[in-house]
Amino acid sequence: MRVEARVPFLVSENILLIRSILALLVVTVGVLWLLSRSPDYQLFGELVSSVETNEKLVALTFDDGPSRDNTPRILTVLEAYNVKATFYLVGEAISYHPDEARAIAAAGHEIGNHSYTHSRMLFKPVSFMAAEVEQTSALIRNLGYTGDIHFRPPYGKKLFVLPFYLWREGIKTISWSVAPESNLPAGAGSEAIAAYVLEHTEPGDIVLLHVMFRSREKSLAAVPLVIEGLRERGYQFVTVSELLAHGGV
Ligand SMILES: [Zn+2]
Repeated sequence: MRVEARVPFLVSENILLIRSILALLVVTVGVLWLLSRSPDYQLFGELVSSVETNEKLVALTFDDGPSRDNTPRILTVLEAYNVKATFYLVGEAISYHPDEARAIAAAGHEIGNHSYTHSRMLFKPVSFMAAEVEQTSALIRNLGYTGDIHFRPPYGKKLFVLPFYLWREGIKTISWSVAPESNLPAGAGSEAIAAYVLEHTEPGDIVLLHVMFRSREKSLAAVPLVIEGLRERGYQFVTVSELLAHGGV
C-alpha cells in the first residue's frame, strides 16, 4: 500500500523535473540565439558596432561579393560622390572575381574579411575559423591592400569559438548600428531604405548595406540618396578604420 501511494508522487515529481529541465533548455537556447546574433555583444575580444564621437562621422559598409555586375556600379557611385567606404568581401568571391576585388582596393576603399565561404560560423572548430579567415586575408593582401583587415561574421553570427579565435589573433570584429534591410519589410524601395538610414543615423554609426547582387538593386539605388541626405545633415563619410581612430578604438 505504501509503495502504491508513493507512485503518483514520484510521477508528479518526475514531471516537475522534466518540465524544469525543458524550461532551462529553452531559456539557454534562447540566450545563446540572442547572443549569436547580437551586433553589440560577444563573449571575447572587441566587437564594434559604432563609436562614441561628437563629430558627424559615418561609415558606409557593403557586405558580400565582389561581383561582376554590381561592383563596378557601386564603385562608380562612390567615385562620383568622392566617398570612401568599407567592403567586407568573401574570399571565394574574390577568387572568382579578382579584377573587381582589385578595383575596390585600387579605388582606395577599406577592405574587410567576411569569411571564405560565407557559412554560419557557429559550432565549428577553431581550425575551420582559422581557414576561413586566413585564406580570405591572404587573398585581400594579394590585391595589394595594405590597410588593417577587420572581420565581419557572415549573417552577423558568432558565439564562442569565432570570437575566441579573433581575440587570440588580435582581429577586431566589426558589426553595424544601422541596418535598413534587416528592419524594413522585404521589397522595400530605395526611398524607404534611404529614409530609414537618414532617420536612424547618429554620429559614429556604421551603416550596413548589401549592393553586390541583382536582387539588391533597391539598396544600390538607395546609396546616392543616403549620401546626399546625410551630407545635407552635415555628415562626413569615413572608412571603418578612420571611424575607429576617431573613437579611440
Ligand atoms: Zn554577408
